[in-house]
Amino acid sequence: MNRSQDEVEKLVIVGSGPAGLTAAIYAARGNLNPLVIAGREAGGQLTSTTDVDDFPGFENGVQGPELMGKMRKQAERFNTRFISEDVVSVDLKQKPFVVLTERSSLRTNSLIIATGASAQWLNLDSEQKFRGKGVSACAVCDGFFFKGKVVAVVGGGDTAMREANYLSKLCQQVIVIHRRDALRAQPALQELVKSKSNVEFVWNTEITEVLGQEKVTGVKIRNTQTGQISELAVDGLFVAIGHEPNTGFLKGELALDEKGYIVVTGETKTNIPGVFVAGDVADHKYRQAVTAAGAGCKAAFDVEEYLEKIELPTEGNGGV
Ligand code: NAP
Repeated sequence: MNRSQDEVEKLVIVGSGPAGLTAAIYAARGNLNPLVIAGREAGGQLTSTTDVDDFPGFENGVQGPELMGKMRKQAERFNTRFISEDVVSVDLKQKPFVVLTERSSLRTNSLIIATGASAQWLNLDSEQKFRGKGVSACAVCDGFFFKGKVVAVVGGGDTAMREANYLSKLCQQVIVIHRRDALRAQPALQELVKSKSNVEFVWNTEITEVLGQEKVTGVKIRNTQTGQISELAVDGLFVAIGHEPNTGFLKGELALDEKGYIVVTGETKTNIPGVFVAGDVADHKYRQAVTAAGAGCKAAFDVEEYLEKIELPTEGNGGV
Protein backbone atom coordinates (compact mmCIF):
# COMPACT_ATOMS: atom_id res chain seq x y z
CA MET A 1 0.00 0.00 0.00
CA ASN A 2 1.47 3.36 -1.03
CA ARG A 3 1.02 6.06 1.55
CA SER A 4 2.40 9.48 2.25
CA GLN A 5 4.56 10.06 5.32
CA ASP A 6 2.01 12.54 6.61
CA GLU A 7 -1.05 10.37 6.27
CA VAL A 8 -2.84 9.68 9.56
CA GLU A 9 -5.37 6.85 9.83
CA LYS A 10 -8.48 7.28 11.93
CA LEU A 11 -8.37 3.66 13.10
CA VAL A 12 -5.95 0.78 12.70
CA ILE A 13 -7.13 -2.67 13.82
CA VAL A 14 -4.42 -5.21 14.51
CA GLY A 15 -5.66 -8.77 14.04
CA SER A 16 -8.17 -10.43 11.74
CA GLY A 17 -9.93 -13.06 13.83
CA PRO A 18 -13.60 -12.65 14.86
CA ALA A 19 -12.72 -9.71 17.17
CA GLY A 20 -10.76 -7.71 14.61
CA LEU A 21 -13.13 -8.38 11.73
CA THR A 22 -16.26 -7.56 13.73
CA ALA A 23 -14.60 -4.34 14.89
CA ALA A 24 -13.84 -3.60 11.23
CA ILE A 25 -17.44 -4.20 10.12
CA TYR A 26 -18.82 -1.85 12.77
CA ALA A 27 -16.11 0.77 12.35
CA ALA A 28 -16.44 0.78 8.56
CA ARG A 29 -20.19 1.21 8.81
CA GLY A 30 -19.56 4.02 11.30
CA ASN A 31 -17.43 5.84 8.70
CA LEU A 32 -14.12 5.30 10.48
CA ASN A 33 -12.46 3.93 7.33
CA PRO A 34 -10.54 1.23 9.25
CA LEU A 35 -7.30 -0.32 8.14
CA VAL A 36 -6.85 -3.93 9.32
CA ILE A 37 -3.38 -5.33 9.72
CA ALA A 38 -4.42 -8.90 9.18
CA GLY A 39 -1.15 -10.67 9.93
CA ARG A 40 0.54 -13.18 7.70
CA GLU A 41 -1.70 -15.92 9.13
CA ALA A 42 -4.94 -14.03 8.67
CA GLY A 43 -8.14 -15.22 10.31
CA GLY A 44 -6.84 -16.31 13.70
CA GLN A 45 -7.42 -19.56 15.55
CA LEU A 46 -10.61 -20.42 13.67
CA THR A 47 -8.66 -20.96 10.49
CA SER A 48 -7.11 -24.05 12.09
CA THR A 49 -10.47 -25.41 13.24
CA THR A 50 -12.74 -27.59 11.16
CA ASP A 51 -16.46 -27.64 11.99
CA VAL A 52 -17.76 -24.73 14.07
CA ASP A 53 -21.12 -25.86 15.43
CA ASP A 54 -21.73 -23.20 18.04
CA PHE A 55 -21.49 -19.92 16.14
CA PRO A 56 -25.06 -18.61 16.00
CA GLY A 57 -26.64 -18.38 12.58
CA PHE A 58 -25.29 -21.59 11.04
CA GLU A 59 -27.82 -24.28 11.82
CA ASN A 60 -25.74 -26.99 10.17
CA GLY A 61 -22.41 -25.67 11.43
CA VAL A 62 -19.75 -23.95 9.37
CA GLN A 63 -16.09 -24.58 8.65
CA GLY A 64 -13.80 -22.25 10.60
CA PRO A 65 -11.99 -20.90 7.51
CA GLU A 66 -15.31 -20.37 5.72
CA LEU A 67 -16.69 -18.39 8.66
CA MET A 68 -13.62 -16.18 8.72
CA GLY A 69 -13.78 -15.74 4.93
CA LYS A 70 -17.39 -14.58 5.23
CA MET A 71 -16.53 -12.11 7.99
CA ARG A 72 -13.70 -10.70 5.92
CA LYS A 73 -15.89 -10.30 2.83
CA GLN A 74 -18.48 -8.54 4.98
CA ALA A 75 -15.82 -6.11 6.23
CA GLU A 76 -14.59 -5.59 2.65
CA ARG A 77 -18.12 -4.85 1.51
CA PHE A 78 -17.96 -1.70 3.64
CA ASN A 79 -14.55 -0.80 2.20
CA THR A 80 -12.30 -1.99 5.01
CA ARG A 81 -8.70 -2.03 3.81
CA PHE A 82 -6.36 -4.92 4.69
CA ILE A 83 -2.59 -5.35 4.96
CA SER A 84 -1.37 -8.97 5.06
CA GLU A 85 1.61 -8.34 7.28
CA ASP A 86 2.47 -8.79 10.94
CA VAL A 87 2.97 -5.82 13.25
CA VAL A 88 6.58 -5.66 14.35
CA SER A 89 6.32 -2.89 16.95
CA VAL A 90 4.24 0.07 18.07
CA ASP A 91 5.05 3.43 19.60
CA LEU A 92 2.16 4.44 21.82
CA LYS A 93 4.04 7.26 23.53
CA GLN A 94 3.53 9.55 20.56
CA LYS A 95 0.26 10.77 19.14
CA PRO A 96 -0.70 9.87 16.51
CA PHE A 97 0.39 6.35 17.48
CA VAL A 98 3.01 4.74 15.26
CA VAL A 99 2.58 1.16 14.03
CA LEU A 100 5.44 -0.56 12.26
CA THR A 101 4.69 -3.56 10.10
CA GLU A 102 7.22 -5.63 8.21
CA ARG A 103 7.14 -3.18 5.29
CA SER A 104 5.26 -0.05 6.36
CA SER A 105 5.17 2.62 9.00
CA LEU A 106 1.67 3.82 9.82
CA ARG A 107 0.33 6.64 11.95
CA THR A 108 -3.10 6.42 13.51
CA ASN A 109 -5.33 8.31 15.92
CA SER A 110 -6.75 5.13 17.43
CA LEU A 111 -5.95 1.44 17.64
CA ILE A 112 -7.86 -1.74 18.36
CA ILE A 113 -5.62 -4.62 19.38
CA ALA A 114 -7.26 -7.92 18.48
CA THR A 115 -4.27 -10.21 18.02
CA GLY A 116 -5.77 -13.11 19.96
CA ALA A 117 -3.99 -15.91 21.72
CA SER A 118 -2.34 -19.04 20.49
CA ALA A 119 -2.59 -22.45 22.12
CA GLN A 120 0.65 -23.68 23.53
CA TRP A 121 1.81 -26.99 22.10
CA LEU A 122 4.08 -29.71 23.39
CA ASN A 123 6.37 -29.02 20.46
CA LEU A 124 6.71 -32.62 19.31
CA ASP A 125 7.05 -33.23 15.57
CA SER A 126 4.46 -36.00 15.77
CA GLU A 127 2.01 -33.66 17.55
CA GLN A 128 2.20 -31.11 14.72
CA LYS A 129 1.85 -33.87 12.09
CA PHE A 130 -1.46 -35.05 13.60
CA ARG A 131 -3.05 -31.63 14.16
CA GLY A 132 -6.56 -31.92 12.71
CA LYS A 133 -6.12 -35.73 12.50
CA GLY A 134 -6.63 -36.51 16.17
CA VAL A 135 -4.61 -33.80 17.88
CA SER A 136 -6.52 -30.70 18.94
CA ALA A 137 -6.28 -27.84 21.41
CA CYS A 138 -10.02 -27.18 21.57
CA ALA A 139 -12.51 -29.70 22.96
CA VAL A 140 -15.50 -27.48 22.28
CA CYS A 141 -14.43 -27.21 18.61
CA ASP A 142 -13.38 -30.80 17.96
CA GLY A 143 -14.70 -32.96 20.83
CA PHE A 144 -17.76 -34.04 18.86
CA PHE A 145 -15.56 -36.04 16.46
CA PHE A 146 -14.52 -38.22 19.39
CA LYS A 147 -18.01 -39.19 20.53
CA GLY A 148 -17.86 -42.64 22.16
CA LYS A 149 -14.07 -42.81 21.78
CA VAL A 150 -11.07 -42.76 24.11
CA VAL A 151 -9.12 -39.52 24.34
CA ALA A 152 -6.22 -38.15 26.34
CA VAL A 153 -5.99 -34.62 27.73
CA VAL A 154 -2.57 -33.28 28.64
CA GLY A 155 -2.23 -30.56 31.29
CA GLY A 156 -3.15 -29.94 34.90
CA GLY A 157 -4.61 -26.42 34.92
CA ASP A 158 -8.12 -25.00 34.61
CA THR A 159 -8.10 -25.39 30.85
CA ALA A 160 -7.23 -29.09 31.08
CA MET A 161 -10.00 -29.65 33.63
CA ARG A 162 -12.53 -27.77 31.49
CA GLU A 163 -11.51 -29.82 28.46
CA ALA A 164 -11.67 -33.10 30.41
CA ASN A 165 -15.07 -32.20 31.84
CA TYR A 166 -16.44 -31.31 28.40
CA LEU A 167 -15.04 -34.46 26.80
CA SER A 168 -16.28 -36.72 29.62
CA LYS A 169 -19.82 -36.00 28.46
CA LEU A 170 -19.06 -37.16 24.92
CA CYS A 171 -16.33 -39.75 25.11
CA GLN A 172 -16.24 -43.29 26.39
CA GLN A 173 -13.11 -42.53 28.38
CA VAL A 174 -10.92 -39.51 29.10
CA ILE A 175 -7.36 -39.98 30.33
CA VAL A 176 -5.76 -36.87 31.87
CA ILE A 177 -1.99 -36.99 31.57
CA HIS A 178 -0.16 -34.60 33.88
CA ARG A 179 3.57 -34.10 34.33
CA ARG A 180 3.34 -33.76 38.12
CA ASP A 181 1.36 -35.49 40.89
CA ALA A 182 -0.80 -32.47 41.73
CA LEU A 183 -3.12 -30.38 39.63
CA ARG A 184 -2.78 -26.63 39.27
CA ALA A 185 -6.50 -26.18 38.53
CA GLN A 186 -8.89 -24.55 40.99
CA PRO A 187 -10.21 -27.07 43.57
CA ALA A 188 -13.82 -26.96 42.43
CA LEU A 189 -12.82 -27.91 38.89
CA GLN A 190 -10.52 -30.66 40.15
CA GLU A 191 -13.33 -32.15 42.22
CA LEU A 192 -15.78 -31.94 39.37
CA VAL A 193 -13.48 -33.85 37.04
CA LYS A 194 -12.36 -36.36 39.66
CA SER A 195 -16.01 -37.19 40.32
CA LYS A 196 -16.49 -38.41 36.74
CA SER A 197 -16.48 -42.19 36.49
CA ASN A 198 -15.05 -42.17 32.95
CA VAL A 199 -12.06 -39.90 33.72
CA GLU A 200 -8.76 -41.45 34.71
CA PHE A 201 -5.57 -39.61 35.77
CA VAL A 202 -2.07 -40.62 34.80
CA TRP A 203 0.36 -38.73 37.06
CA ASN A 204 4.03 -37.81 36.76
CA THR A 205 3.91 -38.51 33.08
CA GLU A 206 4.91 -36.68 29.94
CA ILE A 207 4.06 -37.45 26.34
CA THR A 208 7.10 -38.13 24.19
CA GLU A 209 5.39 -39.03 20.90
CA VAL A 210 1.99 -39.13 19.26
CA LEU A 211 1.49 -42.47 17.52
CA GLY A 212 -0.47 -43.36 14.39
CA GLN A 213 -0.42 -43.72 10.62
CA GLU A 214 -3.23 -41.69 9.02
CA LYS A 215 -4.70 -40.64 12.36
CA VAL A 216 -3.87 -40.86 16.04
CA THR A 217 -3.92 -44.35 17.56
CA GLY A 218 -2.02 -43.70 20.77
CA VAL A 219 0.65 -41.80 22.67
CA LYS A 220 4.06 -42.82 23.91
CA ILE A 221 4.51 -41.71 27.51
CA ARG A 222 7.37 -41.47 29.98
CA ASN A 223 7.07 -41.63 33.74
CA THR A 224 9.05 -38.66 35.06
CA GLN A 225 9.89 -40.50 38.33
CA THR A 226 11.00 -43.87 37.00
CA GLY A 227 11.85 -43.00 33.39
CA GLN A 228 9.71 -45.94 32.27
CA ILE A 229 8.37 -45.65 28.72
CA SER A 230 5.02 -47.13 27.74
CA GLU A 231 2.22 -46.66 25.24
CA LEU A 232 -1.42 -45.71 25.73
CA ALA A 233 -4.02 -46.46 23.06
CA VAL A 234 -6.17 -43.36 22.43
CA ASP A 235 -8.16 -42.02 19.47
CA GLY A 236 -7.38 -38.39 20.17
CA LEU A 237 -5.13 -36.08 22.11
CA PHE A 238 -6.25 -32.72 23.50
CA VAL A 239 -3.37 -30.44 24.37
CA ALA A 240 -4.43 -28.12 27.21
CA ILE A 241 -1.23 -26.70 28.60
CA GLY A 242 -2.23 -23.05 28.37
CA HIS A 243 -2.64 -20.26 25.88
CA GLU A 244 -0.27 -17.47 25.12
CA PRO A 245 -1.62 -14.03 24.21
CA ASN A 246 -0.03 -12.56 21.11
CA THR A 247 1.32 -9.42 22.75
CA GLY A 248 5.07 -9.66 22.19
CA PHE A 249 5.04 -6.48 20.07
CA LEU A 250 3.37 -4.50 22.89
CA LYS A 251 5.90 -5.07 25.66
CA GLY A 252 6.94 -1.79 27.28
CA GLU A 253 4.17 0.08 25.44
CA LEU A 254 0.93 -1.11 27.03
CA ALA A 255 0.08 -2.51 30.48
CA LEU A 256 0.16 -6.32 30.35
CA ASP A 257 -0.51 -8.72 33.22
CA GLU A 258 2.00 -11.30 34.43
CA LYS A 259 0.86 -13.75 31.74
CA GLY A 260 1.11 -11.19 28.95
CA TYR A 261 -2.62 -10.47 28.55
CA ILE A 262 -3.55 -6.82 27.99
CA VAL A 263 -4.84 -5.18 31.16
CA VAL A 264 -8.33 -3.85 30.52
CA THR A 265 -9.35 -0.78 32.47
CA GLY A 266 -13.05 -0.88 31.57
CA GLU A 267 -14.84 -2.87 28.84
CA THR A 268 -12.46 -2.37 25.89
CA LYS A 269 -10.19 0.36 27.26
CA THR A 270 -6.50 -0.03 28.04
CA ASN A 271 -4.19 2.16 30.12
CA ILE A 272 -3.55 4.31 27.04
CA PRO A 273 -6.48 6.44 25.85
CA GLY A 274 -7.09 5.75 22.19
CA VAL A 275 -5.86 2.14 22.39
CA PHE A 276 -8.68 -0.38 22.68
CA VAL A 277 -8.73 -4.15 22.92
CA ALA A 278 -11.01 -6.96 21.78
CA GLY A 279 -11.03 -10.73 22.02
CA ASP A 280 -8.69 -13.38 23.41
CA VAL A 281 -5.71 -11.05 23.70
CA ALA A 282 -7.36 -9.76 26.89
CA ASP A 283 -9.63 -12.72 27.70
CA HIS A 284 -8.34 -15.93 29.23
CA LYS A 285 -11.75 -17.03 30.38
CA TYR A 286 -14.38 -17.25 27.62
CA ARG A 287 -12.19 -17.45 24.51
CA GLN A 288 -15.08 -18.05 22.09
CA ALA A 289 -15.49 -16.68 18.57
CA VAL A 290 -18.84 -15.19 19.52
CA THR A 291 -17.52 -13.44 22.65
CA ALA A 292 -14.55 -12.11 20.65
CA ALA A 293 -16.93 -10.82 17.97
CA GLY A 294 -19.04 -9.11 20.65
CA ALA A 295 -15.93 -7.47 22.09
CA GLY A 296 -14.94 -6.28 18.60
CA CYS A 297 -18.31 -4.58 18.23
CA LYS A 298 -17.92 -2.85 21.60
CA ALA A 299 -14.38 -1.72 20.75
CA ALA A 300 -15.57 -0.12 17.50
CA PHE A 301 -18.25 1.84 19.37
CA ASP A 302 -15.72 2.90 21.99
CA VAL A 303 -13.32 4.12 19.27
CA GLU A 304 -16.10 6.11 17.64
CA GLU A 305 -16.87 7.79 20.97
CA TYR A 306 -13.16 8.47 21.57
CA LEU A 307 -12.59 10.00 18.15
CA GLU A 308 -15.62 12.22 18.53
CA LYS A 309 -14.13 13.60 21.75
CA ILE A 310 -10.71 14.45 20.36
CA GLU A 311 -10.05 16.95 17.69
CA LEU A 312 -9.02 15.03 14.60
CA PRO A 313 -5.97 16.51 12.89
CA THR A 314 -6.33 17.38 9.27
CA GLU A 315 -4.09 15.18 7.09
CA GLY A 316 -0.46 16.10 7.43
CA ASN A 317 -0.57 18.37 10.46
CA GLY A 318 0.72 15.89 13.00
CA GLY A 319 -0.64 14.68 16.33
CA VAL A 320 -3.84 14.92 18.24
P1 NAP B 1 -2.07 -22.92 33.28
O1 NAP B 1 -2.85 -22.57 34.51
O2 NAP B 1 -0.80 -22.24 33.02
O3 NAP B 1 -1.83 -24.50 33.33
C1 NAP B 1 -1.09 -25.14 32.35
C2 NAP B 1 -0.94 -26.61 32.74
O4 NAP B 1 -0.24 -27.28 31.71
C3 NAP B 1 -0.16 -26.81 34.04
O5 NAP B 1 -0.72 -27.86 34.77
C4 NAP B 1 1.24 -27.16 33.53
O6 NAP B 1 1.93 -28.08 34.36
C5 NAP B 1 0.93 -27.87 32.24
N1 NAP B 1 2.00 -27.68 31.27
C6 NAP B 1 2.55 -26.50 30.85
N2 NAP B 1 3.50 -26.74 29.92
C7 NAP B 1 3.54 -28.08 29.75
C8 NAP B 1 4.31 -28.93 28.94
N3 NAP B 1 5.21 -28.45 28.08
N4 NAP B 1 4.11 -30.27 29.03
C9 NAP B 1 3.19 -30.77 29.88
N5 NAP B 1 2.41 -30.01 30.69
C10 NAP B 1 2.61 -28.68 30.62
O7 NAP B 1 -2.95 -22.69 31.95
P2 NAP B 1 -4.53 -22.81 31.74
O8 NAP B 1 -5.05 -24.02 32.39
O9 NAP B 1 -4.76 -22.63 30.28
O10 NAP B 1 -5.08 -21.53 32.48
C11 NAP B 1 -4.62 -20.23 32.08
C12 NAP B 1 -5.38 -19.17 32.86
O11 NAP B 1 -6.72 -19.14 32.42
C13 NAP B 1 -5.39 -19.43 34.34
O12 NAP B 1 -5.30 -18.20 35.01
C14 NAP B 1 -6.72 -20.06 34.55
O13 NAP B 1 -7.20 -19.88 35.86
C15 NAP B 1 -7.59 -19.37 33.51
N6 NAP B 1 -8.68 -20.24 33.09
C16 NAP B 1 -9.82 -20.20 33.82
C17 NAP B 1 -10.85 -21.04 33.47
C18 NAP B 1 -12.10 -21.03 34.26
O14 NAP B 1 -12.95 -21.85 34.01
N7 NAP B 1 -12.25 -20.14 35.21
C19 NAP B 1 -10.74 -21.91 32.39
C20 NAP B 1 -9.57 -21.91 31.68
C21 NAP B 1 -8.53 -21.08 32.05
P3 NAP B 1 2.45 -27.64 35.82
O15 NAP B 1 1.25 -27.60 36.68
O16 NAP B 1 3.41 -28.72 36.17
O17 NAP B 1 3.10 -26.31 35.63
